[in-house]
Amino acid sequence: MPRKLRLLIIEDEAAIRTGLIDVFVYHGYEVDFSGHGVEGLNKALTGKFDLILLDVMLPGINGLEICNRIRVRDRSQAIIMLTAKSNDEDIIEGLSLGADDYVAKPFSVAQLVLRVQAVLRRTRNGTSQCQTLQLGDDLSIDCQNLTGRRGDENLSFTRREIELLQYLQLNWHRPVPREELLNKVWGYANHHDIETRTVDIHIVKLRRKIEVDPAEPQLLITVRGAGYRLIGQSQ
Ligand code: CA
Repeated sequence: MPRKLRLLIIEDEAAIRTGLIDVFVYHGYEVDFSGHGVEGLNKALTGKFDLILLDVMLPGINGLEICNRIRVRDRSQAIIMLTAKSNDEDIIEGLSLGADDYVAKPFSVAQLVLRVQAVLRRTRNGTSQCQTLQLGDDLSIDCQNLTGRRGDENLSFTRREIELLQYLQLNWHRPVPREELLNKVWGYANHHDIETRTVDIHIVKLRRKIEVDPAEPQLLITVRGAGYRLIGQSQ
């Protein structure tokens, strides 16, 4: 029998935390939890969780800093941030720090469960498509190790960024709509009520890493009204 998926919930509001624990235990997960930033971070750094649900406002250390510290240690840890709906800056910063996704409060529990399942589906499939991506004249990306080099510069990527590049590479001959990226890369079957901003934020992050001038992308281009396209590949 496969082992249960392990979830860590870091959330200081007891009512929300208890509700989440109940829901995910009901769905068959093994759940650990913390209501404090420092304790939560220490648990997160054990590396034994398949996914971490991480609140932003926490006593001790806030969730953005926790996300950052986890990423320094482990770029492949699956993390979903729980953010306040009104706070765009938290959402953008969380995704910039390498969270796989975010869910804005107040959230529907059913949607959160779907998001958790989608992230886990992606992360447990691994990065099996390409080993190495060559882009432009001097950029190479190691898809297994989530690292890259452009000239003398070392780059590091999150797993989600690599998956996004891999999917665009597979479909190099056409622009890929954001809805398709949400479906294929994020694993969301029904995206009508999910913000497509997640895709755009990841594209911006990727351009900062791979483009010589992120404001004038030459590799990861926007095709107006059609989506994103990856060009400039050498085999
Ligand atoms: Ca909180």
